[in-house]
Amino acid sequence: MDFELNDIQKSVQQTFKDFVDRRVMPQAAAIDENAEFPTELFKEVGDLGFFGMRYPESVGGTNMDILSYCLAVIELSRGSMSLAAACTMQSLMATYFLFRFGDEEVKKHFEAALKGEEIGAICMTEPNAGSDLFAIQTKVLVKDGHFLLSGQKTWVTSAPIANFFTVLAKTDNHEKLSIFFVPSNLKGVTVGKKINKLGACGSVTSEVAFDNVSLPKNYLLGEIGGGTNCLMEILAEIRIMTAALSIGVATAAFEDALKYAKERVQFGKPIGKFQAIQMKFADMEVQLQTAKHYVFYAAYLSDNNLPRHKESMIAKLYASECANSICDQASRVLASYGYATEYSLQRYLRDARFTLIGGGTSEILKNNIGRELGL
Ligand SMILES: Cc1cc2nc3c(=O)[nH]c(=O)nc-3n(C[C@H](O)[C@H](O)[C@H](O)COP(=O)(O)OP(=O)(O)OC[C@H]3O[C@@H](n4cnc5c(N)ncnc54)[C@H](O)[C@@H]3O)c2cc1C
Repeated sequence: MDFELNDIQKSVQQTFKDFVDRRVMPQAAAIDENAEFPTELFKEVGDLGFFGMRYPESVGGTNMDILSYCLAVIELSRGSMSLAAACTMQSLMATYFLFRFGDEEVKKHFEAALKGEEIGAICMTEPNAGSDLFAIQTKVLVKDGHFLLSGQKTWVTSAPIANFFTVLAKTDNHEKLSIFFVPSNLKGVTVGKKINKLGACGSVTSEVAFDNVSLPKNYLLGEIGGGTNCLMEILAEIRIMTAALSIGVATAAFEDALKYAKERVQFGKPIGKFQAIQMKFADMEVQLQTAKHYVFYAAYLSDNNLPRHKESMIAKLYASECANSICDQASRVLASYGYATEYSLQRYLRDARFTLIGGGTSEILKNNIGRELGL
């Protein structure tokens, strides 16, 4: 196993680092404070080719490996979790099923999404079905060669600005999950209340209701009842990506705290010279480095088609827990300034909470890891 990034990976990392330092960092606080979708930056991320990184060149992508994708995700979330959450949604969950199963008509939306000209969203969660996806109640009646979709979804990232939805539902003739493509301008689609959140505030989220929405045959993505298998195809990648989001926000918190510890003087010396503060940095550094390297390892397994189901869960679980611990410790280093909205640390602390939920909660991941161990 090679621990050195290759030239392409280094170049991706540098490109996104420069973009984030130059364009994202100066706007990140305002994006969070105004809770507004960063339209311009989203387009610029699209221009960098981010939305197509994981898709082949034949469909407009750049065919990058997962490790390169993770390096870009880390940089984006180092700058703004709001921007990173919206962009990762667009590059993976919102577009994957269109790419895999869309016909010519549906693929046009996919290709527009890769360029950032259309925005997609995934509708899985419902008011009564979060971790337990099989409990969803959104129903599809199969009728004379077309479908009628009805149900209520919630927590849909990018819903208020989405051109299309990928919707998880149950058909009346099958207990298992199916996936449908649903343009947001169809009759019967209502984007509901915007959800005000603790963090990632510029990644707009809302409820979506479907009331007898008529869908043609070609809007079924995959087979009836094939939804679970389809989700399994990208589950590991979603978890590795969420782990990368965690590393990004943890890096931002760590870097801010390190700078502060070198500058803040108390009792006649920089606070970084006190052993109690050094211990915190040692702990943070160990967590950040081990989490980052495990995420890279999971990406390596995935890129080499090696078994990575359990490893992707470990990466997501460990990186998100480390990110929250690092943000907490970094906030203590800044003390009152870590509590001030003028400083970014409070934003990192709030944003990091999201990584504990998306891609499976820690409890669910621990259950699954236990099951993988034969328990
Ligand atoms: C910012 C944000 C963006 C999101 N974006 C989207 C999106 O775009 N599309 C979408 O469909 N969803 C989205 N979600 C929803 C997300 O996927 C769900 O929140 C997640 O699946 C958890 O569901 P829940 O919040 O209903 O929690 P619940 O499933 O109700 O869980 C509540 C608590 O119980 C625990 N728990 C549940 N079951 C078990 C069990 N069997 N064993 C042990 N503990 C258990 C959980 O770990 C958790 O601590 C988003 C969420 C957030 C916060």
